Amino acid sequence: MNIILIGPPGAGKGTQAKILEDERGLKQLSTGDMLRAEITEKTPLGLKVKEIIDSGSLVSDDIMIDMISHRIDKDDCVRGFILDGFPRTVAQAEALDKMLHDKKKDLNAVIQLVVDEDALIARIEKRARESATVRADDNAATLQKRLEAYRSQTAPILPYYQNHGILRTVDGMAPVEEVTRQIAEILGQ
Ligand code: AMP
Repeated sequence: MNIILIGPPGAGKGTQAKILEDERGLKQLSTGDMLRAEITEKTPLGLKVKEIIDSGSLVSDDIMIDMISHRIDKDDCVRGFILDGFPRTVAQAEALDKMLHDKKKDLNAVIQLVVDEDALIARIEKRARESATVRADDNAATLQKRLEAYRSQTAPILPYYQNHGILRTVDGMAPVEEVTRQIAEILGQ
């Protein structure tokens, strides 16, 4: 089973992806985590994307499409994967369709976590306070930029998937366990 979790920063995609990974043996593929690992390891790619990520803008489609295309070929994705943070633009969504078709893989569901933006800001500030290693992009100024990138570049993906008949929504403001339950209802046992 291959699924996409979609929602603005702080909507709880990562939390739910980890739960799905534990409960269903699917692999969480967080493009944000992959990029941060490149930065930590100071790879050429990491050096190239650091400023972009710190500023809250999006990394180019070519880089991201290439990264995901290689990643889903790995053995740990054979039981399925959860895309967390990808696609983030319509071009990425279209490229994903093509690559899944070429690799003879299905997309089973696209699940949108619907949230209230004011609450998001509080949630991200809490994440920054509680995290041992604070993310450079978890601060109020960058968050506005990330939310704006979500609104202008990522939200247009929603009608794309709606037209394909695979978009489902859950209440991202509900407690974690309730969001997990709503997702389970969509995915079935
Ligand atoms: P995230 O951890 O998903 O919030 O991602 C952190 C940052 O990584 C984003 O603000 C972007 O700069 C970059 N990023 C992650 N995934 C993508 C993507 N699919 N396309 C473009 N940029 C991305």
